[in-house]
Amino acid sequence: MQTPSAHQLLHIWEAGQGRPPWVRALLLLEAAETGMEQKALARLPLGERDDRLLELRARLFGETLSSLADCPACGERLELNFSIDDVRLPGPKATAFLFESGDLCVSFRLPDSVDLEALLPGPDAPRALLEACLQGINREGEPAVIADLNEAEITALIAHMGEADPRADLKAAMNCPNCSHSWSARFDILSFLWEELGAWVRRLLAEVHVLARAYGWREDDVLALSPWRRQHYIEWVQS
Ligand SMILES: [Zn+2]
Repeated sequence: MQTPSAHQLLHIWEAGQGRPPWVRALLLLEAAETGMEQKALARLPLGERDDRLLELRARLFGETLSSLADCPACGERLELNFSIDDVRLPGPKATAFLFESGDLCVSFRLPDSVDLEALLPGPDAPRALLEACLQGINREGEPAVIADLNEAEITALIAHMGEADPRADLKAAMNCPNCSHSWSARFDILSFLWEELGAWVRRLLAEVHVLARAYGWREDDVLALSPWRRQHYIEWVQS
């Protein structure tokens, strides 16, 4: 993995505007995982994708994550700090995934970005995602199709598939210093990182604006400067 340049990050941010989250994830990883082809990145299971986004986040903005949350017990607004290692989980040991219930045996693979691209948002999305990832269904040892499964089996299968790679559903341990309540909250690295990137881009554009106006430099010239040098020039302009 390599750290994308300021110029690349600005381009990613612009290209991701109005695009679905899975596209934004691929834009970020395409700039960071230069040794991997686009097609291979799109075929990464979503847990693996998110694990790489955690690593990218550490490279871009450091290991410490800060977020605001309301305590569900006392309602206090809390600023929580945790580290990337607190939310990072090992990947599944299995390479083939099975769901067995009574006489039913279903093999499936983990969902990836290509599956998300084909998905229409709505209440049928979980079932459509399940169908895309099915590899084989057997009942009493005989081949079967999804139409042979009852609703309870489908629901259990969707839940089982969701738990197959814990990295696709990260949780952060929360503690309220006000009332000592503990809970775990879902942590979506993609939306977290995208929001951080947005704040960073706005700061960067403000720096470009100040330096371009003061010195007559082009945007590319300012972006090519290290953050350290940009900061010094800005201090001199504003002093
Ligand atoms: Zn509390």
